[in-house]
Amino acid sequence: MLHLQNYINGTFLAPVSGAYLPNINPATGEVYSQIPDSDERDVQAAVEAAQAAFPAWSAFSAEKRGRFLIKLSELIDQNLERLAKAETTDNGKPLSLSRTVDIPRASSNLYFFGTGVQHFASEAHSMEGVAVNYTVRKPLGVVACISPWNLPLYLFTWKIAPALAAGNCVVAKPSEITPYTAHLLAELCVEAGLPAGVLNIVHGTGPKAGAAMCEHPEVKAISFTGGTQTGKTIARTAAPMFKKLSLELGGKNATVIFADCDFEKTVSTALQAAFANQGQICLCGSRILVERPLYDRFKAAFLERVKNLTVGDPMEEGSRMGALVSEVHLQKVQNYIALAQEEGGTLLTGGERVYMKGRCANGYFLQPTVFEGLPHTCRTNTEEIFGPVVTLMPFDTEEEALTYANYTQYGLAASVWTQDLTRAHRVAHQLQSGIVWVNTWLLRDLRTPFGGTKQSGVGREGGWEALRFFTDPQNVCIKL
Ligand code: NDP
Repeated sequence: MLHLQNYINGTFLAPVSGAYLPNINPATGEVYSQIPDSDERDVQAAVEAAQAAFPAWSAFSAEKRGRFLIKLSELIDQNLERLAKAETTDNGKPLSLSRTVDIPRASSNLYFFGTGVQHFASEAHSMEGVAVNYTVRKPLGVVACISPWNLPLYLFTWKIAPALAAGNCVVAKPSEITPYTAHLLAELCVEAGLPAGVLNIVHGTGPKAGAAMCEHPEVKAISFTGGTQTGKTIARTAAPMFKKLSLELGGKNATVIFADCDFEKTVSTALQAAFANQGQICLCGSRILVERPLYDRFKAAFLERVKNLTVGDPMEEGSRMGALVSEVHLQKVQNYIALAQEEGGTLLTGGERVYMKGRCANGYFLQPTVFEGLPHTCRTNTEEIFGPVVTLMPFDTEEEALTYANYTQYGLAASVWTQDLTRAHRVAHQLQSGIVWVNTWLLRDLRTPFGGTKQSGVGREGGWEALRFFTDPQNVCIKL
C-alpha cells in the first residue's frame, strides 16, 4: 500500500502523530493509499522551514525563481501520463480529462507565473517638479495555499505558482480526498532542485491541518479555494489577525440561451458546461435558462446528447463521465436529486446511481441528471449541488433571464448564448458574476482576473492580480 508523506524542508516526513488516513479510489471504492493525518505540529515544522528558506528565496532574482517554476513545468510535461493516471485514480475523473486538461494546465500555471513574474513591474507616480513616488512590491513571507479536490493539481499549482514566483515561501495543503498528485509534485520539486523549505506540503484534514495553517501567526496570507462555508470559517480565523485573504468559493452558474444562438454550438457547449468532470467544477453551468421559443427544441437536442454521455471506468478511453469523488459526495448529490423531486421538479433523464461490473463495481457513479419545472427560487435552483445535476428553465424576456440568473447568493460565472452583439454586452454587464463567457465556456486566458462576487469569494486570482495578492506594496516618496 502506498504511504504518502509530508514534504517539509525538502524531505519526506511521516506525520508527528504517526497517524494516517485512508485514501480511496472513487471508481473502485478501494483504499489504495494512506496519507498523513497531520496536525499543528507538522504545520509548525512546515512554517519554520518556510521561514528559514524565505530570506534566500526572496532575495533571488525574479528570473532565478522563475526558472525553478519553468523547470517544474517541464518535469510535469515529462511525467504527464503518470500524473494523469494518478489524478484519475485519486479523483475518478476520465483519464482523457486528466491528460488534456488537469495536468497540462498544472504545467501551464507554473510556466505562466515562472515567465510572468519576470515581466511584473510596479508603478511610479511623478508629482511634477516636486517629488517622485515609486512602489516596491515585497513578498509577504510565509503564505498558506489550500486547495479542493475537484481539480487537484490544477488548482494546487494555480496557487503555489504565483506565491512562489513573487518570492514567498509556501505551506500548502491539497484536499485529503485527492492528495496524490501534490505528493508527486513534491517528488518533482526534489528533481528540480527547488531549495529546501521553499514549498512545504502538509497532508491531512481541513479542520485539523488546514485550520492549523490558517491559525498560525507567521502565515501572512491565505489563498483558499473550496466551499463557501469553509471560506467563512477561514475568514473568521484570518480577520482578527489581519491576514491577506483570497477566497475562491462556490458557484451556481447560469447558462443563458437566447433563441438567436448558434444552436449546435450552444447545445454541445451547454452539455459540456453541465457535465464536465461530473459537474464538479465550480464554473459548471448547472442552471440552463432558455428563451421560450427555443425551449422545446433545445430540450430535445440536449436530452438526446445527455443519453450519449457514457458513464464508465474513468481509465477507459470511451468514458465521458467517471465517478464522483467520494461516497459522501455521491450521497449529497443524491439527496439533491430527491430534493428536486420533493420541490416538484420533473425528472427528464438520469437520477440513478450507476452500478458497474468488474473493477468498478463499488465505484461512486451517477447518471447525468436533468430536471425541469422548478421555480428559480427553490433550493435546487439556488444551492450548489456540485454534481451532474442540472435544471432547465424557460424565460420570456431578457429581464426575466437576468432575474433568474442573478437569484442566488453566488456570483462566480455565467455564459450567454446569442448572436446579437449588443445584447451580449448588455446582458453580460448586468450579470452578477465575476466571469461571463459569451458563446463559449471555460475558455481561459491566465492573464485575466479570475474569481467571483457575492458569496463566491473575495479577491481575484490570475495574472497580475495573483502577483499583487502575494506581494505588499510599499510607496517610496522622494522629494526633488
Ligand atoms: P472544502 O471547502 O470542503 O475544502 C477545500 C479545502 O479546504 C480542502 O483542502 C479542505 O481539506 C480544506 N479545509 C476544510 N476545512 C478547513 C478549515 N476549517 N480550515 C482550513 N482548511 C479547511 O471544499 P471541497 O474540497 O469540498 O471543494 C468543493 C468546493 O470548492 C465547492 O464548493 C466548489 O464550488 C469550490 N470550488 C471553487 C472554485 C473557485 O475557483 N471559486 C474552484 C473549485 C472548487 P479536506 O478536504 O482535507 O478536508
